[in-house]
Amino acid sequence: MALIVQKYGGTSVGSLDRIRTVAKRVAKAHKKGDSVVVVDSAMSGETDRLIKHAYDLCDEPPEREMDLLMSSGERVSASLLAITLNSMNVPAISFTGRQIGMITDARHMKARIRRITGERLRDALSEGMVAVVAGFQGVNEASGSVTTLGRGGSDTSAVAIAAAMKADLCEIYTDVDGVYTTDPNIVANARRIDVISFDEMLEMASLGAKVLQTRSVEFGKKYNIPIYVKSTFTEGKGTLVTEEQKEMEDVLVSAVAYDRDQAKITLAQVKDKPGVAAKIFSKVAEMGVNVDMIIQNTSIKGSTDISFTVPKNDMKPTIKELKALLDKIGGAEIRSDEKIGKVSIIGVGMRSHTGIASKAFMSLADSGINIMMISTSEIKVSCVVAADEVDRAVRVLHDAFELAQPPKKRSLKRKGK
Ligand code: ADP
Ligand code: ASP
Ligand code: MG
Repeated sequence: MALIVQKYGGTSVGSLDRIRTVAKRVAKAHKKGDSVVVVDSAMSGETDRLIKHAYDLCDEPPEREMDLLMSSGERVSASLLAITLNSMNVPAISFTGRQIGMITDARHMKARIRRITGERLRDALSEGMVAVVAGFQGVNEASGSVTTLGRGGSDTSAVAIAAAMKADLCEIYTDVDGVYTTDPNIVANARRIDVISFDEMLEMASLGAKVLQTRSVEFGKKYNIPIYVKSTFTEGKGTLVTEEQKEMEDVLVSAVAYDRDQAKITLAQVKDKPGVAAKIFSKVAEMGVNVDMIIQNTSIKGSTDISFTVPKNDMKPTIKELKALLDKIGGAEIRSDEKIGKVSIIGVGMRSHTGIASKAFMSLADSGINIMMISTSEIKVSCVVAADEVDRAVRVLHDAFELAQPPKKRSLKRKGK
């Protein structure tokens, strides 16, 4: 008998009919004799709807209240699924994050999981019930307040529960039948990837491929939990996210990702002297804001411009804090640009191959796409482009690296292969 964690995303539980479809899938696993924990998202559009309500009422809703509000979406779908399962004579019980002891730190709206006590989960499973857990949420032990894990956080709930319960299998059911070489909703000839390493998936997720939340892949990697990404609506092998394996080596560039959730902040004419950048980025780090690309221009008459990107939601609070700081340390002006997007190529093969970045830049240039900022790591190259060029840039890069072809047929291979 296996212990299986299945996670169903928003589209998968987006209507009562779809909840019935999910219930049938869950019932099948339960009838086989497996212990099943289901983690679900809010019905599609529900989290956005709740957020909009808050902003219609208030410009800066308190984050604690936002968390209580947003966590309700997942509770609704969890209880509806448990009700449906019971109506099919499958014993099921639903839980909130707090009820299963999903303990997090205190950072509202982007809390990190500290531990999962899981007593009630274990009790339910030992009684032969399906345990349905509301994803995306936890509780901060010190304050007793509900927290949420950041957008897309139900993936992380699922993988973390799989790790804590030492599950045999963690399946992420969604509206696509696996992880593709890029978003199949943007590039029609994107290819499904059979097996992908945690490291590549981690880069893809953090660079915007929202099929898995980044933290969920971090958990998978840390506790070595293989993750299967599959479709709720069709049968198929899906994609296995796992440790790096030999047969993955031939792939040079494995995927293209994009992220529209980026904004650029420019601090114009800050003093070019030791300690200034440290003060600026310490302040941003204190706020828990993820800074991505950073560019500092050449100094002119003792001052310089520093530009960096942050998630869109963090732009306004970051500017507010930095204004206060610049008043103290001196600096002329803060500018911002939300009409940007980031496109990235990812591949572990880049570690041992040169010329990848230049090929990416050339293909964008040949298509008349202007690159505003660049950052690279061992296994990725990212470029910031205008927001309205993002889709085209993704297609151009996907074509340039022949990602629609099976890896063996691509002309660009790793050295010596
Ligand atoms: P869920 O609601 O099930 O959590 P999400 O919308 O969060 O689903 O994630 C699935 C979506 O991720 C797909 O519909 C697809 O548009 C998008 N996506 C982006 N990049 C990729 C990729 N490389 N492979 C598969 N899907 C991707
Ligand atoms: N409902 C939350 C969101 O829309 C969490 C999730 O879907 O994973 O971000
Ligand atoms: Mg998701």
